[in-house]
Amino acid sequence: MNRIEKDISLLPFNTFGIDARTKYFVRIQSVEELQTLLQTSIFKEEKHLLLGGGSNVLFTKDFDGLVIKTEIFGIEKTEEDHAHARVKVGAGEVWHNLVMHCVKNNLGGIENLSLIPGTTGAAPIQNIGAYGVEVKNVIEFVDAIELSTGATKVFTKDECRFGYRESVFKHELKEKYFISSVTLSVTKENHLLVTNYGALQDTLKSMNVDDVNDVTIQSISEAVIKIRTSKLPDPSVIGNAGSFFKNPTITQEHFASLQNKYSTMPSYPSINQQVKVPAGWLIEQAGWKGKRFDHVGVHQQQALVLVNYGGAHGDEILQLANKIQHDVEEKFGVTLTPEVNII
Ligand SMILES: Cc1cc2nc3c(=O)[nH]c(=O)nc-3n(C[C@H](O)[C@H](O)[C@H](O)COP(=O)(O)OP(=O)(O)OC[C@H]3O[C@@H](n4cnc5c(N)ncnc54)[C@H](O)[C@@H]3O)c2cc1C
Repeated sequence: MNRIEKDISLLPFNTFGIDARTKYFVRIQSVEELQTLLQTSIFKEEKHLLLGGGSNVLFTKDFDGLVIKTEIFGIEKTEEDHAHARVKVGAGEVWHNLVMHCVKNNLGGIENLSLIPGTTGAAPIQNIGAYGVEVKNVIEFVDAIELSTGATKVFTKDECRFGYRESVFKHELKEKYFISSVTLSVTKENHLLVTNYGALQDTLKSMNVDDVNDVTIQSISEAVIKIRTSKLPDPSVIGNAGSFFKNPTITQEHFASLQNKYSTMPSYPSINQQVKVPAGWLIEQAGWKGKRFDHVGVHQQQALVLVNYGGAHGDEILQLANKIQHDVEEKFGVTLTPEVNII
């Protein structure tokens, strides 16, 4: 097992670029290493935090415990027939590298999720999604280790209880299991290509991919990368964790009453007859887009993205988020819930 390091800065390990410290830090490169760690007094006595790429966390203070960073690698095709392949992926693999591997090998299903930061092990935690696709569409199994016993467990897709940016790992099983690998079922032929997202169609057109028959997993991936690099701030330049809040869902009655007042309010159908409203629109209407306060702010093009302009304390970002939540609640009666894990 790797050495447990003491008093480490988390600055290189979170995309918000927050210079919080952790009391202990360890890198885990295999299931056996984790099982050994679970026997140590440091693990037994200290609180712990599982960390992948740190692209969905906000450290609001130093972490008084053990940060366990996932570095289990490997991409392996475990089964295949003429139409599908099963790919087992180590939790520490960078998600975008996996997407590129699949795109290169003409394996379809995750091309719309190109360029989402973070690790493969964290992808099921919030059921990552973008441009009309969620990772739950391709997940077959999630291999995990129960932290209290060291026992291995295979979660089926149903047991993961996926929802919009949700899974059982964010609720009942939060911090109870370490995800060690994820098995995906990807398509080898007759790819079901998802192109109905407006910006994706426009970008494909701008790439001269006009005809629906000409669309490939490669062109979708390329288009998604173009869109994302043009509109999302690069965390290596400006600290951020992507969308700070989830898009809220409201009742049809609530939506109708808001639409009376705000006729341009965008919306999408959601589950249980509810209506999903873009959080970015609500934040912009509440006057927050592009606002900057010293080290922190709301991104100029993306109202849903809170940013660290450099040297911010995590608590400053949290305070900004609280003010935005307050204003949106007051103006629209809509509660914004953070997508980012506040630590
Ligand atoms: C610029 C930018 C754009 C983004 N765009 C999108 C997007 O389009 N769609 C989207 O869904 N998300 C998006 N995100 C959010 C982020 O990329 C995803 O949530 C990603 O899955 C986080 O991966 P990570 O490895 O960085 O997780 P971390 O931030 O390290 O961890 C996130 C959570 O997962 C837990 N966790 C991590 N690894 C494990 C493990 N092995 N076992 C158990 N628990 C674990 C952590 O404890 C934490 O609670 C974006 C982020 C950024 C910075």
